[in-house]
Amino acid sequence: MAENSKATTIQRVAIVTGASRGIGRAIALTLAGDGCHVALLARSEGPLSEVRSQIEESGGSASVHAVDAGDSAALAETVESIASERGRLDILVNNAGITRDNLALRMSDEDFDAVINVNLKAAFVTCRSAIRPMMRGKYGRIINIGSTSGVVGNAGQSNYAAAKAGLVGMSRSLAREIGGKGITVNVIAPGFIETDMTAGLPDSVKAQLTGSIATKRLGTVEDIARAVSYVASEGAGYLTGQCLCVDGGLTMC
Ligand code: NAP
Repeated sequence: MAENSKATTIQRVAIVTGASRGIGRAIALTLAGDGCHVALLARSEGPLSEVRSQIEESGGSASVHAVDAGDSAALAETVESIASERGRLDILVNNAGITRDNLALRMSDEDFDAVINVNLKAAFVTCRSAIRPMMRGKYGRIINIGSTSGVVGNAGQSNYAAAKAGLVGMSRSLAREIGGKGITVNVIAPGFIETDMTAGLPDSVKAQLTGSIATKRLGTVEDIARAVSYVASEGAGYLTGQCLCVDGGLTMC
């Protein structure tokens, strides 16, 4: 009740990592459309500025923060400075992610570590930095973008699946730590979504994949953004510690 009564008067502040393209860009546009100020994070400033322009042209509010998610100190400082400059932090979406696929026998330590660093450790670092300002506001929505690979596994992705499965355990632990403070922590696990990350898949692989998806199509970035919009909303305050597979019925997990 207290959460809802405040809702009409304040502008929520959201951080979206990996907001320059693909799923993160769609999430940023959707949260801006929901009325949030959106802090856009990724390494390259140019594409982030284009997303900010698009948000501003639609009457929304956004800011650009170029940072490498693999640099823990810089990432933590970025999150803390956004919260302190805007005076609050309500929503954190950890979406930045990379793949370095290979069969385990051929996977290098470097490729394992790089994927764990960007996909899992960076999410922990931003969550840790977000908890204090969210506790001050007695409100928070943390959404970590996982993958169905982290739920059912995927040959050639032992590093990526480990990172994404790690997000689920981490999110559930955080949900238990801070659930009493009005902060929810959930994972949204996309299936196969049409983005740069999947653009390189051969057509034959895409056709085979599509055949195994109940809805008989790859997902769109908007399919994921709409799910994030709900989990980030005030009405989703009783949803926490969940891993929501948005995958067209690929896994039915
Ligand atoms: P994408 O098109 O490759 O975009 C990745 C985003 O992450 C970009 O904005 C990129 O910007 C940013 N990023 C990458 N490395 C970074 C780093 N070190 N520091 C800061 N930002 C970094 O990926 P996507 O397909 O939209 O995927 C988004 C998320 O959904 C990922 O977590 C991915 O694992 C997950 N997912 C995707 C699919 C799919 O089918 N596409 C399926 C399941 C899960 P810069 O390069 O400028 O840094």
